[in-house]
Amino acid sequence: MSARGGSDRNQKRRGLRKIKFYCQMCEKECSDRNGFEAHSRSAGHLAKMELFAANPEKYLAMFSDQFEADFMELVKSRHRGRKVLVNYVHNEYVQDRSHVRLNGTRWKTLDEFAQHLSSKGIVELSYDDDGNPYIKYIDVAVLSAREKHAEKERKRKARVAAKLEDQRRSAMEASVAAARAAGSLAGPVLELARPPDSDTISVALPAKAAQPAPLRGPAAALDPLQPPAPLRTAPATLPSARLPAHPKPLSNVERILQETRAREARDAARATWAVPGAVVRILDASLDSLFKAKAVVVSRHASPRHLVAVAVVGTPPADRVLVDIDEALLRPVLPPIGKPVVVVRGEHAGERGVLVDHMPSDKSLAVRLDATGITVRGLGYAAVCKVRARG
Ligand SMILES: [Zn+2]
Repeated sequence: MSARGGSDRNQKRRGLRKIKFYCQMCEKECSDRNGFEAHSRSAGHLAKMELFAANPEKYLAMFSDQFEADFMELVKSRHRGRKVLVNYVHNEYVQDRSHVRLNGTRWKTLDEFAQHLSSKGIVELSYDDDGNPYIKYIDVAVLSAREKHAEKERKRKARVAAKLEDQRRSAMEASVAAARAAGSLAGPVLELARPPDSDTISVALPAKAAQPAPLRGPAAALDPLQPPAPLRTAPATLPSARLPAHPKPLSNVERILQETRAREARDAARATWAVPGAVVRILDASLDSLFKAKAVVVSRHASPRHLVAVAVVGTPPADRVLVDIDEALLRPVLPPIGKPVVVVRGEHAGERGVLVDHMPSDKSLAVRLDATGITVRGLGYAAVCKVRARG
């Protein structure tokens, strides 16, 4: 082969951006089918194929690693710090004549490759409305700085909360002392019990106290002349509480009780998860034919709060079978990546978003929140639930 002929052929090859006839094992391009078939019969190629057949996993791993390393090099050098279309980076990569062909790797599509990168935690994966994958390089240095800042913020908030709690307690103790000094409370019978690890304060007041003063709002349920209302979440000591006669110290105690109960109500509300629109699976074996059926949460009962009404999806003959069921017997359904979800547990409970990542290796999910655009990672399977689109 003359030097001139070789250079002509190289020029011809350079012009061919999309080369169908490429042998990954020999890293050889062929200009057409005939050339490729000739190459396939060559001694050199057959020898390489023997090597490949002896250990296909090794070569697949080698090509895949090379592909990933080259690809990430491009992302880091040209697209650091911004979101970029995966196909765009790939187009840049194939400009390099010696690039590893995708079909020589273990990934069938670029999307599959992008999901692999995302599951390694080195990129943030997202999709546009047409389902095209975008990635953004996760800069570990930037990330750890952000984590440090978040940790500082957590500590600061904890300090503020502890300080407020101290202030609240001393204000209450002062008001109790004032009440005692005023003679409205008999000495030894008043106790303030604060069980360890509890956020609630139980107030036990003298049983021989005079007429209870009229109470407004929910605290009226504590009228000692009435049988105590069933309070599922209230501390056990509450129904026995007697209230003193004078409105002034009472208003303080009342305020504390109301605060405690409001906080408990908030906690109870937070502990429930199956929100309307959530797509769930019924795990109540007593429901027979509906066991493991898919359903959509329609509403939540006001009481008891753990009871929800669900509409069973696609149950013949009627399309909608309504069932009241304890949410403990429901499991969140996970949609495919790119579909709307609601976070049902943890710090972001109640927030809607899009499932952007699923890492089966550590059973964790990532959700991009609609309201803030922030991607929350490390969510457990029980914390994310498929949700019917609004409207
Ligand atoms: Zn070959």
